[in-house]
Amino acid sequence: MARYTGAVCRLCRREGQKLFLKGERCYSDKCSVGKRGYAPGQHGQGRKKSSEYGLQLRAKQTARRFYGVQENQFHHYFEVAERKQGVTGDNLLRILESRLDNVVYRAGFASSRAEARQLVGHGHFEVNGKRVDIASYLLKDGDVVSVCEKARGTEKMKAIIEANGAKPVPQWMDVDHDKLSAKVINLPTREQIEAPVEEQLIVEFYSR
Ligand code: SF4
Repeated sequence: MARYTGAVCRLCRREGQKLFLKGERCYSDKCSVGKRGYAPGQHGQGRKKSSEYGLQLRAKQTARRFYGVQENQFHHYFEVAERKQGVTGDNLLRILESRLDNVVYRAGFASSRAEARQLVGHGHFEVNGKRVDIASYLLKDGDVVSVCEKARGTEKMKAIIEANGAKPVPQWMDVDHDKLSAKVINLPTREQIEAPVEEQLIVEFYSR
C-alpha cells in the first residue's frame, strides 16, 4: 500500500483524537481536532455507531498512524509480537517504541515522528557510534542514539533542540542534551508507554 501523502490532520480527525503528527502545531490552537472535531469528508458529521469490526479497525489504524508505519510492516510487527513470550499487545507496543525514529522523537531530537524519519534517512544519527539511516531500525536495551558530528552544528538541528529540549523524556531513556545523545535504559513496559492505542482491539483485529 502506498504511503499516504494527503493532509495529516485529516488522519487525526478520522481517528477522533490528536495523533501529534505535526510538531509545534499540535500544541497550538491551530490544531484541527480542536477546531473541527469530526471526521473528514462528506459524511464526517453523520452516523457515529461502529460495529465491533469497525472499532478494531480504528484501533489498528490509530496505532499505525500514530507511529507512522505502513500496513505490511505493522502486520509483520504483530506476527513477531505474537511469537514472543508475554502479552502480544504489550510486545507489539514495545516493538513500535523501539524503532529508531520513535526514539529520536521521544528524546526531543525531532518535532514529530515524520521529521525523525526524515532526519534518520538523511544519515544524521548514529547508534552506538555507527551511522544508521534506517528509521525502522529496532533498538535494544543499552543502545545509545546520538546526533552525528556533522549535524550537530546545523541551524536546523539547533532549532529542533531549542524547540523540543524541554519536552518531558520517557523514564525508560536517559537523554543528555549537551552531548545530544539518548540511551535506551530498558525498553518500556506498557505503563511507561504514552500512546492512544487500544492494543487488545488490535490483537482481536488480526485474530479474526
Ligand atoms: Fe493532529 Fe497535530 Fe494536525 Fe492536531 S495539528 S490534527 S494533533 S497533526
